[in-house]
Order: sequence, then structure tokens, then C-alpha cells
Amino acid sequence: MSSIFQPRMYLEDLKDLPLAYFKERGYTDIILDLDNTIGAYDQKEIDDRYYDILATFIKEGFNITLVSNNTERRIAGFLKDLPIKHISLAIKPFSFGYKRAVERFDIDKDKTISIGDQILTDILGSNMMGIYSILVKPYCKRDSLSTRINRHIESFLIKKGVVKLK
Ligand SMILES: [Mg+2]
Repeated sequence: MSSIFQPRMYLEDLKDLPLAYFKERGYTDIILDLDNTIGAYDQKEIDDRYYDILATFIKEGFNITLVSNNTERRIAGFLKDLPIKHISLAIKPFSFGYKRAVERFDIDKDKTISIGDQILTDILGSNMMGIYSILVKPYCKRDSLSTRINRHIESFLIKKGVVKLK
């Protein structure tokens, strides 16, 4: 049995998300993390490359919901005009944020994939909710202080083979 920290899939780049694979299997929704998944933690607005990646997901028929530990103000300003719903102050890895998203936006969690850059928040939280979890390589090497601490634990989990990136 794989560990509660194990992502179901690992992506080097968000643009490599196999949309056709998930569509064929009936997935309709994507839950996304913000900081270091679609931009740097100190970046004000989404950049053009990531804007296009998310616009493609939407064009392909996926609903995107952002679930972030960050504030409402930070998230709303970041997304520009992308039609993306969001939950702020999610307190991941606890499942409150995901539960709020699922209930408020009437999301079927069995048809949802959840993508984020952190094992200890995004992957653990999604796995505990029974949502298909995908770990993505961080957007950049800069992290907030709390994330920097988590990164040490993540590298330990990977080194010890508790989490396998494949
Ligand atoms: Mg993150």
C-alpha cells in the first residue's frame, strides 16, 4: 500500500498534464494550488505562459477551482480575468479548504484531480479527501519561510523512499 504522502502522478511541468487521459476517464474538475504551482509566492499576477496553460485547461472543458492557503486579496489579484473560482485561507493539509470547495461549488470529488507543488499540504490534503493527487515541480526555487521548512521534510520523504516521483 502506498503512503498517504504519495502523489498519484508527478509532473515536471504543469503543461504536461495529460488532459485527454483524464477526459477519457470522466474527470471534469481541477483543484489547483497557487503559490509555486502557478506562480512565485511573491509574484503579483499570473504570467503569460501559465495564463495560457490554464486557459487551455478551461478550453478543454475543465472547471478550475483554486484552493490556496493564501488570502482572498492575493488570489483575486493574481488570476487576472481567468474564470476560476477560489477558496482562500484553506489551511491545507487539513481538509476544510477542499471540503469548502467541494460543497460550495458542488464539485464531484471522484471526478476531480488536485494539483500542487507541496507534498505536506497539497498531496497530503488531497489524499486524505480521496481526491486524485498530482505533484508538480515547483514554479521556482524561491519559497516563503514556512514552505522552506516543509521542503526539508519533503526531501527527507523522497530520500527515504516514502514518496516516489515517477
Ligand atoms: Mg504551493
